[in-house]
Amino acid sequence: MMSERTPLTIQQIYTLAETCMLANGCDSANAAAVAKTVSTAERDGSESHGLFRIPGHVASLRSGKVNGKAEPEIEAVTPAAIRLDGHNGFAPLALERGIPVLADAAETLGIAVLAIRKSHHFAALWPETEAIAERGLVGLACTAHTPMVAPYGAKKAFFSTNPISFAWPRPNKPPYVFDMATAAMARGEVGLAARDGHALPEGVGLDSDGNPTTDAKAVHQGGVILPFGTYKGSAIATMIELLSAGLVGDYFSYEAGEADNKDGGPAQGGQLIIAMSPKIIAGDNWEAHSEDFLSKLENMDGVRLPGQRRHKNRLSTEPRLIKTELVEKIRSLTSDE
Ligand code: NDP
Repeated sequence: MMSERTPLTIQQIYTLAETCMLANGCDSANAAAVAKTVSTAERDGSESHGLFRIPGHVASLRSGKVNGKAEPEIEAVTPAAIRLDGHNGFAPLALERGIPVLADAAETLGIAVLAIRKSHHFAALWPETEAIAERGLVGLACTAHTPMVAPYGAKKAFFSTNPISFAWPRPNKPPYVFDMATAAMARGEVGLAARDGHALPEGVGLDSDGNPTTDAKAVHQGGVILPFGTYKGSAIATMIELLSAGLVGDYFSYEAGEADNKDGGPAQGGQLIIAMSPKIIAGDNWEAHSEDFLSKLENMDGVRLPGQRRHKNRLSTEPRLIKTELVEKIRSLTSDE
């Protein structure tokens, strides 16, 4: 009998993803960038942004929605405003090319913004904000795509799950980082619950008739997710839509939904990433001052800092246990091209 989970090392996860991307029309740079994103997610225990996403990527390559050979193009509109055209590729290569340029600009100017258009995201945001923090900078990132969240008071999808991530650099330790959907639950998590037959907590979603439900399948297939924190989450989602679409010059989620070919892969979505230099903005004492704050916070009874679960997972050298069915699926998508 087929075992439910297959142990794979991070390198094996990377190779599985990379080989599948190459077999389905990616060039080596795009295949490597997607494989890095996917294996990084599995390394940190983010199953919903790991290999789980590969079948969707393949669908988008096969339908022609995503160009697996896209070469992202960078244009510095001003020294502090960097615009990057993803030319319809997957986001990981655009991010790989854009983040160092953004960080260089912020180190010189104090603040810089990277606006990525025409790329297809499908991933977590913390690798990008952490990469900015590793340069001693403060990072903030958000994105919008595919409508699946009803604004507070409504029953129809209008927002995407609109994630936002923030990272603050810390001396000799991982940054303070949070990375979260502004929906009551990320769509990938709802998808996993639907796949695995788990119920959702109350207040996460509505079924296709607009009624509250805890049935993950009813929310995932035809229903909608709700914003976190009722009207407050709705306001933050609105801000993210405006930053990621209005300011970037890409689709709002409802526009992305209309333009998408519904192949099951990631819709086009804009991304706004900001980098700020505390050294330039706050002056030399910034690190000791904020470190004092963060260490007081993390030493309070009952508090754990966001990011700590992922940083702990990252240290494990054990193989990651991947659903065998998924591994088989990716292998078949690699060989039947
Ligand atoms: P979670 O709700 O699991 O976690 C959100 C944040 O809260 C994380 O930084 C997490 O840190 C932290 N956290 C969780 N529990 C606690 C706790 N008890 N105390 C303190 N902090 C805590 O994330 P989501 O489900 O909202 O999002 C999952 C991922 O999905 C994100 O990476 C997001 O970027 C991604 N996503 C991507 C989208 C896209 O369009 N590309 C769309 C929507 C989501 P830790 O990780 O250490 O637990």
